Amino acid sequence: MVDELIRLLGVENVKFDPEELEKYSHDETSGVEAQIPLAVVFPTSTEQVSMILRWANERRVPIVPRGAGTGLSAGAVPTKDSIVVSLERMNRIVEFDEENMTITVEPGVITGEIQKIAEEHGLFYAGDPASSESSSIGGNVAENAGGVKVIKYGPTSFHVLGLEVVLPTGEIVTFGGKTLKNVTGYDLVRLFVGSEGTLGIVTKIILRLVPKSKCTAVLLVPFRDIEDALLCVPKVLSQSGVLPASIEFMDKASSEMASRFLNESIPNPEAECHLIFELESTSKQSLTREYIELGEKLMQMKALEVYIADSRTQRMKIWRFRKAIAEGIIAFRPTHCMEDVVVPTANMPKLVVSAYDIARRFDLEVLNFGHVGDGNVHVTFLKPDGMSDDVWKRSLEKALEELYKITVQLEGNLTGEHGVGLKRKKYLSMFLQEKELALMRSIKRLFDPNNILNPGKIFPD
Ligand SMILES: Cc1cc2nc3c(=O)[nH]c(=O)nc-3n(C[C@H](O)[C@H](O)[C@H](O)COP(=O)(O)OP(=O)(O)OC[C@H]3O[C@@H](n4cnc5c(N)ncnc54)[C@H](O)[C@@H]3O)c2cc1C
Repeated sequence: MVDELIRLLGVENVKFDPEELEKYSHDETSGVEAQIPLAVVFPTSTEQVSMILRWANERRVPIVPRGAGTGLSAGAVPTKDSIVVSLERMNRIVEFDEENMTITVEPGVITGEIQKIAEEHGLFYAGDPASSESSSIGGNVAENAGGVKVIKYGPTSFHVLGLEVVLPTGEIVTFGGKTLKNVTGYDLVRLFVGSEGTLGIVTKIILRLVPKSKCTAVLLVPFRDIEDALLCVPKVLSQSGVLPASIEFMDKASSEMASRFLNESIPNPEAECHLIFELESTSKQSLTREYIELGEKLMQMKALEVYIADSRTQRMKIWRFRKAIAEGIIAFRPTHCMEDVVVPTANMPKLVVSAYDIARRFDLEVLNFGHVGDGNVHVTFLKPDGMSDDVWKRSLEKALEELYKITVQLEGNLTGEHGVGLKRKKYLSMFLQEKELALMRSIKRLFDPNNILNPGKIFPD
């Protein structure tokens, strides 16, 4: 099989040495068993992706697409006897169209690079997952990645105007284009965004750029009481008349994790939690007025202090701190379970309070952080020191069931941005009606009748 792949792609584009394959046996998800693939191939063009899929479809060989491997749902973890198709060498900027405010890229481009190119031209790419410096845009599209600017700009699907995709049969198709509107038939762009590499391999992406905001400020707001902090969020959103670009939350344990990872501290480290607001405006005066008004409201809502960062360096420092939480967890507490539940914003305080209660009941450690402005909290259970693996697994299982039950009661969903992958598939039917799940399965069959593309992902066995 490997010989055939080498004949198709050239020896320089195929890896089969077990030591080199290890890196491709896992992503960043904790608690999911790694699986060494048969080989990893590195196509450099759409035509090569097409050749691989045609070949695999004829032989019924399972294919696992992979971007940068930063996924948190084990979507890129190989299934048994599979070939990983790594898109990392398809990393060209195809076109920057300043007048139409679009950028066309290959899937292996790192998201942060797109942000930088846009910024150099006075424009803005609004997709901003905390992993923007390490994740690929193809992975962002496949997961419909969210991040810290979703309240104002939406998740990745809001920025994708067009796609080139290779179907499991090897056919190359394009959906959408550069237009902002398009109702010519079904919206297949949106179907593919978030399809977790189960319907086709994305080989080109047309992204929408927007004007870069002229003035930005970040407010760092410590609170003594977590519920007080969380209750502010729906009030700010519905009553302040201002739509912040971000509202993020980190509890004390999360800040301590980031602090340890970066060896830096933030103001009021003893606070039970911090909220981070990012405000954007067209002038310095209006921005100042908005952050003063918001700051006063937050003080009335029991904030301990409001720190305003309006220089780029100060703002970057706060964001670097916030974005280091997940990295700290992965580095210092490898046995953890990072969840991604999402609820309507006003229900989020109840969700977070319940998460602490669940952890207490099952003797687990927990930290909570995330994108509270859009109701998406990364409840993260940690294995306490001294707990056996068996007890951890059993307690975690029960804790997750409780967490999901309360999420359903609060009209929420299983995953807001990390995806289902392997990690969450057994819980899917708690959140989807039978008919919905059946429709999704028939879509999968329609695109991939031989089930070669990322088999075993999303759908419960
Ligand atoms: C520290 C850290 C912080 C994070 N913060 C965020 C965050 O704020 N918001 C957020 O949404 N996520 C976040 N993530 C999760 C992760 O970075 C995202 O899910 C990201 O979109 C994955 O991109 P990737 O290139 O690493 O994809 P991979 O992990 O390689 O793959 C993810 C999925 O996409 C599929 N795939 C990849 N490329 C293609 C392609 N070209 N065509 C079809 N399918 C493809 C794979 O099969 C897999 O199912 C974070 C992860 C880490 C480690």
